[in-house]
Amino acid sequence: MSRFLTPTLAALAPYTPGEQPQDKQYIKLNTNESPYPPSPRVAEAISAAEVEKLRLYSDPACADLLAAIAGQYGLQPGEVMPGNGSDENLFFALRAFCDENRPLAYADITYGCYGVWCGLLHIPSHIIPLEKDFSLDPTKYYGLGETIVIANPNAPTGLALPRAEIEKILRQNPGNVVIVDEAYVDFGAESCVPLIHSYPNLLVVQTYSKSRSLAGARLGFAMGNAELIADLNRVKFSLNPYNINRLTLLAGAASMRDTAYFRKNCAAVMDTRAWTQAQLAALGFATLPSSANFIFARTDAMPGGQLYQSLRQRGILVRHFAAARIADWVRITIGTPEQMRVFIETTQQILAEEGTPHA
Ligand SMILES: *Cc1c(COP(=O)(O)O)cnc(C)c1O
Repeated sequence: MSRFLTPTLAALAPYTPGEQPQDKQYIKLNTNESPYPPSPRVAEAISAAEVEKLRLYSDPACADLLAAIAGQYGLQPGEVMPGNGSDENLFFALRAFCDENRPLAYADITYGCYGVWCGLLHIPSHIIPLEKDFSLDPTKYYGLGETIVIANPNAPTGLALPRAEIEKILRQNPGNVVIVDEAYVDFGAESCVPLIHSYPNLLVVQTYSKSRSLAGARLGFAMGNAELIADLNRVKFSLNPYNINRLTLLAGAASMRDTAYFRKNCAAVMDTRAWTQAQLAALGFATLPSSANFIFARTDAMPGGQLYQSLRQRGILVRHFAAARIADWVRITIGTPEQMRVFIETTQQILAEEGTPHA
C-alpha cells in the first residue's frame, strides 16, 4: 500500500477470489466454473477475421448480443443490459440504486462481493442473518425501504427460494429495487424473469460464467423493465461505454443461440450433483439440498479448513470460507463424473487416515 492511497480505500477489505493456481494441475472444484467447454459455436464465431477487427472498438450498444439474449428470455433488447461479468451488472445496479442514504440489504451468508462493493461505494450495509439452517426468511425483507439483493440460489449454500416467495418480497417493497442474482438459476431453481413485466422494481442478473462455460470471457446480463435498464446504461456510459469486448460479444451471442448444448450441460451437472450428494451422505457428510452447480457440505470427522488443506495436498481444490458461521463447511463445485469419482475416493482416504471416528 502506498502512502498516496486514500484512507477510505486503505480501510477496505477487497474480495478474495478462489485460487486460480498456474503452477500445477489440480482438479478444480473451487470456483464454480463449468467442467465442460463452451458451445462449439463459440470457436466458430471467433475467426481470424474477427481477431483482425480487434483494432476497432466493440459495439457500445451490444445490439446482436442483446437480440440473442432477449430472444431466449422473451424480452425486448431494451430490457437487457450486458456486463463485463455479472459482477459488473451488480456493481452498476448498486451504483444506480443505492447511496449513502439508501442502504443495501442482504444476507449474512451470501456472495462476498455485495459487502465489498458497499464499502467501495460508501453504501451502508443492512445485513440480515439467515436462519439456523441457512434458509432465508422472506418476511424479514418485507417493507424495508432499502434496496435488496438476494442471490437465488444462494452462494455458498446452494439453497433456493421459490419464485412465489420472491414475488412477495417484490410486492412488499414497491418503492425499492429488488435485485435477484441468478448466477446459478440454470441448475434447477425457479427464475424470476417471468415476473419482469409485472414488477417495475425487479432486476434479475444472470451470468455466462457458470452454466454457459464462459467464465474467462467475462459476460453477464441484467434483465428488468426498460426504465431500470436505462438507469444501468447511465452508469455504463459514465464509466466504460465499450464494456464488452468484440470477441466476447461474438462468443456470447453464439453461445446463447445454442440452447440444446446449454440444456445438455446443465442436465449433466445436475446428474453428477445427485450422484455426489449421495456419495457424500454415505461418507457421513451433512449436505444442504443444492439447486446450484456446487454442494455445501460438512463432516463431524474434521473441520472444514483441514479437509480443504488435505484435499489440496492431494491435488483437489475446494472452497473453504473463514467466516465463523460456515467455518465447518466446504463448498464443492460439481466437475465431470470422473473428477467427482476421484474427489469422493480421495475424501474417503482422508477421512480414514485423519478423521476423528464418530462417537
Ligand atoms: C459467480 C457469481 C457471480 C459473478 O460472476 P461473473 O463471473 O462476474 O459473471 C455473481 N454472483 C454470484 C452469487 C456468483 O456466485
